[in-house]
Amino acid sequence: MTVSVYPGHGARRSLVTGGAGFVGSHLVEHLLGLGDEVVVLDDLSTGSARNLAGVADHPRVTMVHGSILNPLTVGEAMQSCDRVFHLAAAVGVKLIVEQPLRGLRINIHGTENVLTAAIERQASVLLVSTSEVYGKNTADRLREDADRVLGDPLLSRWTYAGAKGIDEAFAKAYCDQEGLDVSIVRLFNTVGPRQTGRYGMVLPNLVGQALRGQPLTVFGDGLQTRCFSAVEDVVPAMVRIERDPRARGQAYNLGGAREISILDLAHEIIRTLDSRSVVELIPYDQAYAPGFEDMRRRVPDNTKAHDLVGYEPRTSLTSTIMRVAADLLSRERLGSDAMPLAGADSFRGAL
Ligand code: UDP
Repeated sequence: MTVSVYPGHGARRSLVTGGAGFVGSHLVEHLLGLGDEVVVLDDLSTGSARNLAGVADHPRVTMVHGSILNPLTVGEAMQSCDRVFHLAAAVGVKLIVEQPLRGLRINIHGTENVLTAAIERQASVLLVSTSEVYGKNTADRLREDADRVLGDPLLSRWTYAGAKGIDEAFAKAYCDQEGLDVSIVRLFNTVGPRQTGRYGMVLPNLVGQALRGQPLTVFGDGLQTRCFSAVEDVVPAMVRIERDPRARGQAYNLGGAREISILDLAHEIIRTLDSRSVVELIPYDQAYAPGFEDMRRRVPDNTKAHDLVGYEPRTSLTSTIMRVAADLLSRERLGSDAMPLAGADSFRGAL
């Protein structure tokens, strides 16, 4: 990722929980580029040390291997940090559906540990939340104050939205009652290099299938839509929002500009990578557990973040598909992710 030091950025000492994850590792690189000292706290459950390979020896980075579920670990990692980017979470619909208890514990207890430690140390916090909090609200453009429309709490699919909603409520309550300097961002289907399809995320999953020449598994009728946002657009906006005093106690959407159905996404991936794969529609009951409910549509209104920090999603989906494919191929070369991409020769040749 290219980084730039923007005017007025005083170097800080930042803790990034979940810093070895997909978004976290891009954020760590960005903060180092801004001159920050960065402490990474990660239990490497879904993140990977490989994501930080490029900065592992950086003199201003410190890695702490541990869980946000341990308050002592959180307190130690936060020592002398003046701000916290809280990204550590159990993420991915597939993982949440399969392990709801783990997701609830990490996303609720872990987050409260981070928030209380930040109060003790008088550190500011950027809480990274998700568009999942809006649930099944299919409004044309979801504003931050839109209603939440969630399904039965006994369906594990909704526990992620429930837990993240509680996290936001905790953050706001600590802000109002105990003076925590916290702001919130809600990410909408952020995509880019280093994201893995292992936990169900659609874009790296379909790109991997296209590279292998396998059928692209599109769930349901494929007409559900999303607005994918590129990690390199989202990360700088996160930092700008964190440092803006007007953001205190507020939530901001950070999403993509282009609404696309998953079926069209699959075809765009096949075209972009010149793949011989076909699209296969998989009923939801087979893809997930029986009774699974999907979001039919999820479209952000990015006006609030645009007005505050000039956020604008600029990166095209085509270029993200190319970069995700190149990243998956380089991982294969390095022998990780156990991903034999035998059908990728035509794309490989173009790299
Ligand atoms: N999806 C799909 N094929 C896959 C993985 C996901 O069709 O291999 C669908 C999924 O059902 C959903 C959309 O793609 O409708 C986005 O899924 P993802 O898990 O990436 O994000 P989220 O559901 O949180 O928007």
